Amino acid sequence: MKCSEMPYNRIDMDEVKAFFEKLIADSKNAKSGEEQFELHKKYYEFMKDIHTNRILGTFRHDCDTSDEFYTKENDYLDEIMPLISNLENEYSKVLFESPYRDYLESKISKVAFKNIELANKSIDEKILPLMQEENALVSRYDKIIASAKIPFDGEEYNLSLLRKFLTSDDRETRKRAWKAYSDYFTSVTDEIDEIFDKLVKNRTKQAKELGYDNFVELGYNRMNRNAYRRAEVENFRKQVKESFVPFVCEIQEMRRKQIGVDALKYYDNEVYYVNGNPAPTGTPEEILKSGQEMYRELSPETAEFFDFMTENELFDVLGRKTKKQGGYMDFLPKYKAPIIFANFNGTSGDVDVITHECGHAFQGYVTRDDEIKEHNDLTMETAEIHSMSMEYFTYQWMDKFFGDRADEYRKMHFMDAITFVPYGCMVDEFQHIIYDKPELTPAERKAVWADLEKQYRPWLDYEDNEFFTTGGWWQKQGHIFWDPFYYIDYVLASVVAMEFKVWMDKDFKDAWNHYLQLCKLSVKDFYENELKEVGLDSPFADGTIKGLVENLKKKL
Ligand code: ZN
Repeated sequence: MKCSEMPYNRIDMDEVKAFFEKLIADSKNAKSGEEQFELHKKYYEFMKDIHTNRILGTFRHDCDTSDEFYTKENDYLDEIMPLISNLENEYSKVLFESPYRDYLESKISKVAFKNIELANKSIDEKILPLMQEENALVSRYDKIIASAKIPFDGEEYNLSLLRKFLTSDDRETRKRAWKAYSDYFTSVTDEIDEIFDKLVKNRTKQAKELGYDNFVELGYNRMNRNAYRRAEVENFRKQVKESFVPFVCEIQEMRRKQIGVDALKYYDNEVYYVNGNPAPTGTPEEILKSGQEMYRELSPETAEFFDFMTENELFDVLGRKTKKQGGYMDFLPKYKAPIIFANFNGTSGDVDVITHECGHAFQGYVTRDDEIKEHNDLTMETAEIHSMSMEYFTYQWMDKFFGDRADEYRKMHFMDAITFVPYGCMVDEFQHIIYDKPELTPAERKAVWADLEKQYRPWLDYEDNEFFTTGGWWQKQGHIFWDPFYYIDYVLASVVAMEFKVWMDKDFKDAWNHYLQLCKLSVKDFYENELKEVGLDSPFADGTIKGLVENLKKKL
C-alpha cells in the first residue's frame, strides 16, 4: 500500500487502558507458558496498530508542520505515548515475574528479559519529579542551540545554516565563520554551564535515590547496556588511545597536505580538499534513481527492498519550507514497511540518506516477518552496524552520485570515519569523569575536556580562540545533554563496520552474506555472541583494535 493511502486512526486511550487491564489479569491467571505466550502474541497484535498510528501521525506532521489536523494529532501523541509506555512497563513486570519465565525466555529471548530487568532498575515513581526536571533542563539547552541568531557577512544564520561556511573552501571565510560560531557559544556558555551543572546534580540525585553510588551505573542501565559494562568500555578506549590516535595523527598530516596549508588550524576542521568537499552532482530525483540502480545491482535482497520502498512511496526526502528539519527512518509494523524522512540540501549528507538510513531501513525490511517483536528492540551499538556498514558496501557505486569526484568522496568518508573514533571515545571518557565527580565546578569540567583533547586529538590547534582553548567544545555536542553514555555506541558500531570494510575488500560476496546474517539476527542474542556468530571480532577484546588499524593503514 502506498504510504499516502494508509489510514490513520486516532488512538483511543480508554480502549488502550481496557486492553492492558485485561491482558495483565489474563496473564496473571495463565495456566501454562503456552497460554501466557498466546496472550503475549495478542499484545504484539495490539501494539502493531498503536505504533503504526503513532508513526503515521508523527510522520505526516513532520512532512508538513503547517497541517492543522496532524499538528493536533502530534500533540495528542506526545501526551498519550508516555502513558502507553507506562502501561507496557506494568505489563512487562508481569512477564518478568511469570512462573513460566523459562518457557517465555525460550520463546522471546534472554535479551528481552535482561532489558526488562534493566528498565526496572532505572525507574521508580519516587524519581519522576527529578526526571521531569531533567527533561525541562534538556529542553532549555535545546532552545539555546535552536534559537541561535548568528550575524555573519551581513546576514543572520542559525547554527545549522552556518555550517556550510565552517567548511567553506575559502580559508578566510571559514576562519570568520568559526569566530562567529564560537562568539555565539561564548555568549551563552555561562548559561549552558549552569544547565549542565543542574543536569549532573539532578542525575546524580536520581541515582542515589535508587541506591546507586553515582550516575554512571544508572546511565548504563538507562542505555540498556545488557551485554557489556564499564570495564569493557574502558578497555576499548584504552586500545583506541594506543592504536587509533597515532593513526589519526597521520591522517591529519595527509589532510594538511591535501588542503595545502602550513599547519592545520581548528577552522580547517572537516575540510578535505582545496576545491571544497565533494557534493552529489544530481537532482534529488536523480539521487533516488541512482539509489535504486545501486541497490538492484548490490544484491537480490537490496533490490527487492528498494523497489518496495519506491513502489509504496516510503521516502519523503525533498526539502520543503513547512517540513521539520533532520532525518530518520522508522518502521510501520502493520504494513511491514520502513519509512525514510529527510531534507535533501545538496551536500554529501543526501547520499548518506541513501546509504546510512537505507542501511537501517534494509535491516527492518529483512526482519519484517519475525513475529517476535522484542527481536527488533535494537540497542544502538548494534543498529548502527547495519547502517554504517552499508556506507562501505555501497562504496563502489559512488560514481553514480559524485561523478568524477567519487574517489575523493570515498577518501574523505574513510578519513572522516577514522578520525571520529578517538573523538567519540573522548566524549565517553569525559562523561565518565563528570559523573564520577559530580562536585566539579564548570571551570574544572572545561579543564577536564581540554586535557582529554590533548590525549585524543593532539593535532588540534585552536590558536588564540579562548572558548575552545579553555575546553568549551563539548557544549555543542548535544548527546552529552540528551542521552548520557549514548555516544560510545556510534564508536563501537563504527569499528565493527570497519571490520566489514576490511572483509569486503578481501571477499565482497562473503562479507555481504555475513552482513545479511547479522541483519537477520537483530538482537536475538547478546552483542558479543552475535559478533562471534557472524565471524567478527569483539571491539572489547585485546588486540582487535590494533589488528584493525594495521589493516586500515594499508588502505590509505
Ligand atoms: Zn544511524
